[in-house]
Amino acid sequence: MNGQRYVLANFKMNKNAGEIKKWADQILQLMYKRREKIRVKIGVAPSFVHILTAKSLFQGTDIMVGAQNMYYEERGAFTGEVSVSQLKDIGVDFVIIGHSERRKIFKEDNELIEKKLISAIRYGILPVLCVGETLGERENGLTEKVIDEQLKAVERIPDEMMKIDLVIAYEPVWAIGTGIPAKPDQIAEVINKIKNKLKNKFPKISVLYGGSIDENVAKEIRHICDGGLVGSASLDAQKFYKIAENFEI
Ligand code: PEP
Repeated sequence: MNGQRYVLANFKMNKNAGEIKKWADQILQLMYKRREKIRVKIGVAPSFVHILTAKSLFQGTDIMVGAQNMYYEERGAFTGEVSVSQLKDIGVDFVIIGHSERRKIFKEDNELIEKKLISAIRYGILPVLCVGETLGERENGLTEKVIDEQLKAVERIPDEMMKIDLVIAYEPVWAIGTGIPAKPDQIAEVINKIKNKLKNKFPKISVLYGGSIDENVAKEIRHICDGGLVGSASLDAQKFYKIAENFEI
């Protein structure tokens, strides 16, 4: 594995401004306690309303601040949405696209997700595209087919954009928020397929794993992926930082 290493926190719809400040203080303390720089890129995606707070808390540090979603149009009559250009305007570093909760609860399909992906790239925001199968799909031997379908969005990225940094997060839906992470061999199988499929077109691709990561999981899988996307365990700064350290190689 040779992509840039990332460990990203997805706060989902959790934490108010005060809690984010406390989290940031704890992370920064842990970071400054180390003698050497941590060898993964750390990022955090709070709710939209707290992005600017997080940006100011992490200003001047290596910590990236991201969004959990975006709309692909630049502006217009899309009540309740936040556009790619608005995210760019406030200095968002990365954006999670196609998270399984967006696919399932908010009915986002591959077509919409592809538009978001291309739009994020056009605006120079690092896209973190989530892919992954449901339990039913896995049990029916459909994992590869489902992921291939979800990756078509990436294959259709115009050739002139091939040099971009691109992050794919393999997140089996059945492992998200369940406390049951996928097994290392299951993770390795899918991640290797994703890398083999995309590495020629995107030499700078990073493929992360997500789904009930804790510090033990991070240590166990650190050599088979380029880092992790962390939900529940990221809410606790100490746990999250430990996970990030365990992803170092
Ligand atoms: C996620 O929602 O992206 C995720 C990985 O969640 P959790 O770590 O809670 O499984």
